[in-house]
Parts: sequence; C-alpha cells; structure tokens
Amino acid sequence: MGISRKLFIGAAGAACLWALGAQAQGAWPAKSISLVVPFAAGGPTDVVARTLAASMSKTLGQTIVVENKLGAGGTVAAAFVARAAPDGYTFFINHNGMATSTALYRKLPYNPLTDFEFISQAVDVPMTLLARKDFPANNFAEFAAYVKANQAKMNLGNAGLGAVSQLCGMMLERALDVKLTAVPFSGTAPAMNALLGGQIDIMCDQTTQTIPQIKAGSVKFYGVTTKNRIKALPDAPTLAEQGLKDFEVLVWHGIYAPKGTPKPILEKMNAAVRAALKDPDVTRRMADLGAEIAADSKQSPEGLQTWLKAEIDRWGPVIKAGGAFAD
Ligand code: ASP
Repeated sequence: MGISRKLFIGAAGAACLWALGAQAQGAWPAKSISLVVPFAAGGPTDVVARTLAASMSKTLGQTIVVENKLGAGGTVAAAFVARAAPDGYTFFINHNGMATSTALYRKLPYNPLTDFEFISQAVDVPMTLLARKDFPANNFAEFAAYVKANQAKMNLGNAGLGAVSQLCGMMLERALDVKLTAVPFSGTAPAMNALLGGQIDIMCDQTTQTIPQIKAGSVKFYGVTTKNRIKALPDAPTLAEQGLKDFEVLVWHGIYAPKGTPKPILEKMNAAVRAALKDPDVTRRMADLGAEIAADSKQSPEGLQTWLKAEIDRWGPVIKAGGAFAD
C-alpha cells in the first residue's frame, strides 16, 4: 500500500472516530446519570445533591440518580469516582472533605487535584453546634463549662475522618481544650438519629439537616459556625461572638467528574448546575435550609479548582496540629 493510501485510510479512520465521539457527545446524556454522594441518604450532603439533581434532570432531559457510597469520611466515594469511566455518566459531589482528607489520611488512593475534572461549586452551608435534648446546658457558656468538666464521659458524633462534622468537632475540642470520644457514622443522618435518641451527646452539623430539628426544639442548639449570623436563624449567635474567637467553618460543595470526561460534557454539566442554582425551587429550598448559592465566580471549573487548592493549603496545618489521622 502506498504511503498516500495509508495516509488516506488513517485520516478517514480518525475522521470516523471523531464523528463517533462527536455523535456520542452530541447525544449526551443518552441515559440516566449517576451523582455519587459520599454520605448517608437524608443527610446534609444528600439533601443538597437531591435538590440539585431534581432541577438538573429537567435541564438535561435525563434522570440524575443519587447514589450514596458510604465509608471512610467520604473517601470511599471519592476513590470510586476517581476510578469510574470518564464517559459522562458518573459525577461526584463533595464538600470541604475533598480538601481535608489530604491531611487526614496518610495514604489516600486518589489525588483530589489531579484525578478529577472540576465542574462547579454549588452552595455554601453554615454548621450548627448541637447537643441531645436533655443535655444539661442551656447556653454556650454552660455548654463549655459542662464539656470541660465532663469530657471523659462525653461523646461526639461525626461522619468519619474527612467529614465536616469531624473538622468542626476537632476545632471545638481545640478551642475548649478538651478531648471527647468520637463516634463515627456513615453520615450525619444516622448520627442525628443517635443524637435524637440520646445515644450521643453532641454534634456539629450543617443547617441543611439541622434547621428542622432546631425549629422543632428536638435538640439543644448553641450557635452557628459562621463569621456572621445567618438569615435562616437570625436570633442564633455565632460561636465566635460567644468567645470562640476565629471559630469559622463554612461548608462548600464542589461537583466533579472522573479525569478525562470529555470537555463538551463538562460544559453541559456546568450549564445544568448553573441553571439549577438559578431555579426558584432550588434557591427557595436552599434559603430555607440556611444555604447560600455559591458566588458566580465559583460556578466555574477554575473557580472550584482554585478554591480546592486554597482549602488544601488552609486546612492542612490546622489538621496536622489537631493530630487526627488514619492510614
Ligand atoms: N454532614 C456530614 C459531614 O459531617 C456529611 C453528611 O452526612 O452529609 O460531613
């Protein structure tokens, strides 16, 4: 075969492959899409994921199925997505844990900065400090005094190493100079059940799950973890204003895809996230649950990537000083 014929066949083959690829992407999404949530159903991350998924399904014309993959503070799900086929049918939502896990785990089976494609940030969610309903402290000053005096017999629920409940609990322990027994759950939905049942004493958790319980009076509530008071709980003081200087945890959420997912798909997914963040059903529900829509500058792949890098740098030293590690 002459060189020109080979070149011709090569070029024709490439064109054919390109056409097939373009067709596949053009048809995307041709079936339902999986959005992996790293914590238990019904909890804060799950609530955000399902609210967005409902709106995005309408935009994309295909169902987005939320899949809860549990374990190891969200890192089981992250490892699963990092190894999933980059075909546009698997996506991932995670919070600050995407950054904090890099310091918490000595051997993480994925690299959050290089094993994923970045799509967008979604919402920012405050946390709240809670105790079981019959906890013997009626305000934060009493809470702090009681915890200091009774730390040896107290436990703290969280969603494992890598969860924001763990991060917030660790910051609380440091701020009060106490050591509590951590009880890890697969998410803060089961941890909340344990708090309501009185099996655990205290917990930090996002408003996306806690506001209904706070409003129903089924837990004791001592303050929010944001710098300023929040609209959804206007009378609630911040922990910082009650003496925990610089105590600030705001939970941000990013949406990711396995590395290598085709760019046109990432772009369509980004547009669907942005549309969801403007959908009145989403904005209303998020506002009721204390969540703020991420700033426009964060609703881009670069916005998420830059933020994640900064968060890895921010939390690394805090966590290393806290000394909570896993292999
Ligand atoms: N609130 C959780 C956390 O502490 C996770 C969840 O169940 O959404 O990270």
